[in-house]
Amino acid sequence: MHASVKGMYDLLPGSAGGSVELRQRLERCSAEIFETFGYREIRTPLLEEKALFVKSIGDETDIVTKEMFAFRDRGGRDVALRPEGTAPIVRAYLEANLHKTAPFQKFYYIGPMFRAERPQAGRMRQFHQIGAEAIGSHDPAIDAEMILLMMTVLDASRLKGQTLRLNNLGCRSDKARLSKKLKELFSGKKALLCEDCRKRLETNPLRVIDCKKENCRSVVRGALASLEFLCPNCAGHFSVVRKYLDLAGVQYVIDPYIVRGLDYYTGTVFEVSHPDLGAQDALGAGGRYDNLVSDLGGPSLGAVGFALGVERMLIAAAKQGATAFAGKTPPPVFIATLGEEARKKGFELVNALRSVGVACEMDYEGKSLKAQMRKADDMCAPLVVIVGDDELKSGSAVIRDMKSKEQSSIKMDEVVDFMEERVKRKT
Ligand code: AMP
Repeated sequence: MHASVKGMYDLLPGSAGGSVELRQRLERCSAEIFETFGYREIRTPLLEEKALFVKSIGDETDIVTKEMFAFRDRGGRDVALRPEGTAPIVRAYLEANLHKTAPFQKFYYIGPMFRAERPQAGRMRQFHQIGAEAIGSHDPAIDAEMILLMMTVLDASRLKGQTLRLNNLGCRSDKARLSKKLKELFSGKKALLCEDCRKRLETNPLRVIDCKKENCRSVVRGALASLEFLCPNCAGHFSVVRKYLDLAGVQYVIDPYIVRGLDYYTGTVFEVSHPDLGAQDALGAGGRYDNLVSDLGGPSLGAVGFALGVERMLIAAAKQGATAFAGKTPPPVFIATLGEEARKKGFELVNALRSVGVACEMDYEGKSLKAQMRKADDMCAPLVVIVGDDELKSGSAVIRDMKSKEQSSIKMDEVVDFMEERVKRKT
């Protein structure tokens, strides 16, 4: 027997440990919202050149130094399973020359990401993200739209109690100024910082803010509240983003400690956390990345995006006892047959019903009629069509209402119309 790889999980249908149906509903519901907001789906490969992530996310970040599933392929190329969606999408955008033909693009994506983190509740090595990117605009309205879009997906998932935190890291030179200030601020307290943070202080002081260790957090606490480092341009942009959010009625708190772990972020950054998620409390996050397009070889273009963690959304929904992503797949009609000839007729009926959109099931395990009825009951089939030799001879079928237990006879060639009518009446 083989087991799945550490930190990677099967998603089974039904209640047997999986949540495929819930995910499907979440995915469909999100896709509808994205499309209403004018975002179109993009699908990029799971495998990319490793250098793409090193260059974009940053060679000092945890993702790049510790968490990438990276390897050399048979052709001697260094590749990596994608740890996030933004860099591949910018790569795809540039590779398709969209910056020349239609520079403003709004994309969404839904799919697996891979990070070799230590598995724990809410943290997997293969997890799934739902995200969006708008490339080609510096307009503060698009920052607000992106945040509103993320909150709308969460609302539609019926999650309650989440908090949106908002910050602004400024442009690249603002970020450099902030880093310099942080370095000065923390260097006197170096001894209190963890080993990683002592290194970060030299290479990327902003990342000290992100450290989850209690000692580091106590050093960091209070340090940022009064720091002013935004240039007038970035401060102006931020105040317009806030105005748009207020107009849209989005609730948020300003949090100077939201710095985001990935190097490419500049300007507006945001995170949404949920109180029921424990240590891994981030449902999703995002921000502007105005230098990434040019860093990857394109022109200078504004861009902003977000990603929500599907597993975290499902955990939070389950903790809230919410039947989130509601909507039910209708239970199928069951065709029960007795005898070889009746089975052929049953098979024909199943196909005819499915072709008019009626969910339909039959027996594939050689079960007795009694066992087929039990199976229909287990599937919550509202109606069962029974076809045996007698029915074949008389050109009719028996329809059993599983709730009232009433049975009636119907002409075989009227079964499809009858079922279609019944199912449509329900929907
Ligand atoms: P990030 O790309 O790190 O900003 O992550 C965005 C969201 O993806 C987070 O807020 C989480 O909900 C989710 N996420 C990130 N890493 C993991 C992981 N290892 N396991 C499960 N979800 C994750």
